[in-house]
Amino acid sequence: METAGHNPAEKFIPRLVFWETTKGCNLRCVHCRATATELSSPTDLSTAQSLDVIDQIAAMAKPILVLSGGEPLFRSDIFQLARYATEKGLLVALATNGTLVTKEVARMISNSGVKRVAISLDGADSRTHDSFRGIPGAFDAAVQGLRNLQELGMSTQINMTIARHNARQLPQVLAMARNLGADALHTFLLVPVGCGVNIAADQMVPPAEYEEMLNWFYDQSKVGGIELKATCAPHYYRVLRQRRAEEKPSVQAAAAAAEAQHAAAHGQHAGHPMHIGPTDMTMPGSTGIAFTPNLADQKPTHTAAMSATTKGCLAGSAVCFISHQGEVYPCGYLPVLAGDLRKTPFAEIWRDAEVFTTLRDTSNLEGKCGCCEFKNVCMGCRARAFAASGNYLSEEPFCVYEPHTTEWAKTEHTRTDQAKLDRTVHATLTVLQ
Ligand code: SF4
Ligand code: SF4
Repeated sequence: METAGHNPAEKFIPRLVFWETTKGCNLRCVHCRATATELSSPTDLSTAQSLDVIDQIAAMAKPILVLSGGEPLFRSDIFQLARYATEKGLLVALATNGTLVTKEVARMISNSGVKRVAISLDGADSRTHDSFRGIPGAFDAAVQGLRNLQELGMSTQINMTIARHNARQLPQVLAMARNLGADALHTFLLVPVGCGVNIAADQMVPPAEYEEMLNWFYDQSKVGGIELKATCAPHYYRVLRQRRAEEKPSVQAAAAAAEAQHAAAHGQHAGHPMHIGPTDMTMPGSTGIAFTPNLADQKPTHTAAMSATTKGCLAGSAVCFISHQGEVYPCGYLPVLAGDLRKTPFAEIWRDAEVFTTLRDTSNLEGKCGCCEFKNVCMGCRARAFAASGNYLSEEPFCVYEPHTTEWAKTEHTRTDQAKLDRTVHATLTVLQ
C-alpha cells in the first residue's frame, strides 16, 4: 500500500464516489443507512449545486459515480444529473430499490447514459424481502423493475444486505440472481448505522458465521457464471490468501506469507492484480456496485483502475461518499466528516481531509488490525470498528482471526500468559517457513 507518509496524496485517486442524491424514499427499510424521509428531502442539493458537484469531481478524476439515496428516482432531475455526469466522462451507475422502475422509467434510465443499475433484494422470496423493506409488494415490484431494465439490454446487479434474518438464504439468493439473469450479485453485511443501529443486536451476523460465509464466497467464486462479490468484507482478502495457501501449500503458503511479510515490512500493498480473479472482489470498499470488464462502453482505464485495487477497505483512499447535503465522508457507513462541498472544493477535501489522510496509512490501525500481517490487504471495516468502539482506527469487531505476528503476541502476552506467547510465536515461525 502507498502510505501518506511516503507518497504524494495525488497517488490516491477517487475511483468510486457514492452520492446520496436524496434522502427521499418510498420504502421503510429497517436497516436503512440513510434513515430516509417519506418525500424528497428539502435539504437535498439543488440541481445547480448538484451539477457543480459533478463538475468538481470530473475536474479531478473520472471515477465511477453511483447515484443512490434514499431512492434516487425520487429526484425529478436524476436523469439530467446522470446524463450530465456521463457527458463529463464519469461512468454512472444507479443504485435503486427497483420498485419505481416501470418500463417507461427503465427507458429513461437507459437513455440517460447509466451503465449499470443495482437493485436491492434482501431475500429469495417476497416474505423475507418485504418484511425487511417494510412495504408489501416491494419484492415483486423490484423483480419487475429488474426485468424492465434487462429487456432494454441494461446491465443489472442485485445487492443484498445480509443480516441474521436472511443469512441462510444466501445460496437461494445466488440461485435467484442466476435465474433472473443478473450480471452480478453483491452482498453487504449490515453495518450498525442509521436505522441499522436499532436492529444491530438482533440482526448482526456473528463473526464465526461471517467467517463461514466468506469461505462459502471463496468456494462460489470459483463456480463463475455471475459476478459474485462480498462488498465491504475486507477480511475476505485474508480468507482468499489463506484458502489459496491451503490449496497449494508448498507454493502458495510461502508466497502468501512472503507477500504479507513484505507488505508489513515495507508498508506496501500486498495484493497483486494478477492474484485477483474475475469473480473475486475487485472493489471492496464499495457499498455494492462494480462493472464487468466487458461492459460495452467501459473505458479501459476504468477496468484497469478497478482491477488494480486490491486493498480490503478503500474508504478514503479510493472511495468516498457524498451526502444529500453535500457533506463528504469516507463511506456511507462511517460518519466521520471529511468536509462540506458547499464550503470546500471536492479536490481539496479529497487531498487534505484528516480522516482521509489517516485512513491512507495502515500504520495508524490499532488493536488486532494494527498488529495483523494482513492489514495492508485487508484493513478491517472501519465503519464497523467505529460503530463498535467510537474509534474508526480500532480493530474490526467481526473478524475471528488472531494475527500471527510477534507484535500481537507481545500484546497478548501482557494480557494473558507466556504459554500463549509461545504458541503464537511458534505459529508465526510455521507460517514463515
Ligand atoms: S468502512 Fe470500508 S469496508 Fe466498511 S462499509 Fe465503509 S467502505 Fe465498506
Ligand atoms: S485482524 Fe483486522 S486486518 Fe487482520 S484479517 Fe482481521 S480484520 Fe483484517
